[in-house]
Amino acid sequence: GRVVSCYSTAAAIENPATPAVQVNCTQLFINGNFVDSASGKTFPTYDPRTGDVIAHVAEADAEDIDRAVSAARKAFDEGPWPRMTAYERSMVLFRFADLLDKHAEEIAILEAWDSGKPYEQAANIELPAISRLIRYYAGWADKIHGLTVPADSPHHVQTIHEPIGVAGQIIPWNFPLLMFSWKIAPALACGNTVVLKTAEQTPLSALYAVKLLHEAGLPPGVLNVVSGFGPTAGSALCSHMQVDKLAFTGSTETGKRILELAARSNLKPVTLELGGKSPFIVCKDADIDKAVELAHFALFFNQGQCCCAGSRTYVHESVYDEFVEKAKARALNRRVGDPFIAGIEQGPQVDSEQFEKILRYIRSGTESGATLEAGGERLGSKGYYIQPTVFSNVQDDMLIAKDEIFGPVQSILKFKDIDEVIRRANGSGYGLAAGVFTQDIDTANTLSRALKAGTVWVNCYNVFDAAVPFGGYKLSGQGREKGVYGLSNYLQVKAVVTPLKNAAWM
Ligand code: NAD
Repeated sequence: GRVVSCYSTAAAIENPATPAVQVNCTQLFINGNFVDSASGKTFPTYDPRTGDVIAHVAEADAEDIDRAVSAARKAFDEGPWPRMTAYERSMVLFRFADLLDKHAEEIAILEAWDSGKPYEQAANIELPAISRLIRYYAGWADKIHGLTVPADSPHHVQTIHEPIGVAGQIIPWNFPLLMFSWKIAPALACGNTVVLKTAEQTPLSALYAVKLLHEAGLPPGVLNVVSGFGPTAGSALCSHMQVDKLAFTGSTETGKRILELAARSNLKPVTLELGGKSPFIVCKDADIDKAVELAHFALFFNQGQCCCAGSRTYVHESVYDEFVEKAKARALNRRVGDPFIAGIEQGPQVDSEQFEKILRYIRSGTESGATLEAGGERLGSKGYYIQPTVFSNVQDDMLIAKDEIFGPVQSILKFKDIDEVIRRANGSGYGLAAGVFTQDIDTANTLSRALKAGTVWVNCYNVFDAAVPFGGYKLSGQGREKGVYGLSNYLQVKAVVTPLKNAAWM
């Protein structure tokens, strides 16, 4: 992998070096230009390694949202984007993907700096996945079409798949640019225009990317990127009468609020990707070493800040003790430190709020009687680092087994038989993902069909692909993103019915 050579290779939690990248894009991006907010207000974005300010970013509120939506509205109603050929639209997206590849190193530095994720993860896993996803939807742009439908009467019936209009999109901070790409790529490929609000913790990478998208030929007003807070900018976007569609990724609580705002305004359709408490089930016949490694990856990846984190590790009683010992050893070996150091697996949590919340959950785990096998405390005296933490003897009714912790805290639970683990796994209100570990094909089939989850990974975890749909059952959301399913979020289906005269064949 690529490692930026200018960084210190000492385990510099206490004295991290300043990344060698200039933060140039800090204003709102509206109608093809970087502009200040109407109020002139800004807010700081912080370096999670230290809590120091990286930059001050323009803060949007209702007035700026209105400006951005007006630009998107005009671009949709009168502009070239929905009217150009689909092939021309696809070429803009292909050129954008090329520019992302060209600037990947700089973007990955910004992403790691703003969010705390390891630079190598951003550069080697996320950036390639982002340009791949943009190209996947670029490829769809000129392959979207309706059907000719056989009717019961002498009518010619065709369906036309039209863009919906102005999409409002709100994203979280755990995968800032990846979430940006999941949102904008299908919307733009279908010919919609967009106002996207980034998370207040991580505004920088999307502002960099939107500039590249315009270099690639996107007309002004088609994609507007605003930085700001949920209750102000976010809710103004959700309530706006000129927004035709909403897509959100974040917490279940905020998702419910967004549905309410959509319903109370113009009943715009909403796609929601929300939280999870995904079971990771290790059966008695699993390859234990592989299961330990994947359970570790499933939970600790991205500092544990994944909506699909395998955060309930269910292990069969016959292999439980061995599993716990090995999971503990793996957690103690996890390389935590400055995200810019080569080989680092875990950086700091995104901000002080998440950091404090995770430490509270760790205390609650100990207090409720779970066994603390590893970790449990902050690491260093600066920034938001938390030790990789493992609890065993976790019971389903403990808070650490019920709530989304969104941090590096693994909870291991014991089970006896398959019916029991199905019932317990499905006992959560969430239903985003699940992992199944077994060498037995019947067990794999039984579990993958019985689990109420949008994704079931069998003998693997966190395998993402542009073509594979992702989304949740129950409290984990509504709708699916990615793949061919992701297109339908951004298309209206119109049926055109015409009488057929003198037709030999109907
Ligand atoms: P959040 O859901 O509050 O924030 C996500 C996005 O929604 C941000 O852009 C935020 O500004 C916006 N938002 C917040 N309130 C809003 C409102 N009233 N109207 C419109 N937009 C609003 O999440 P958070 O507070 O950053 O994190 C809290 C918890 O959410 C985390 O601990 C974690 O459990 C969960 N979370 C889940 C995901 C995921 O990918 N599913 C991502 C981030 C956080």
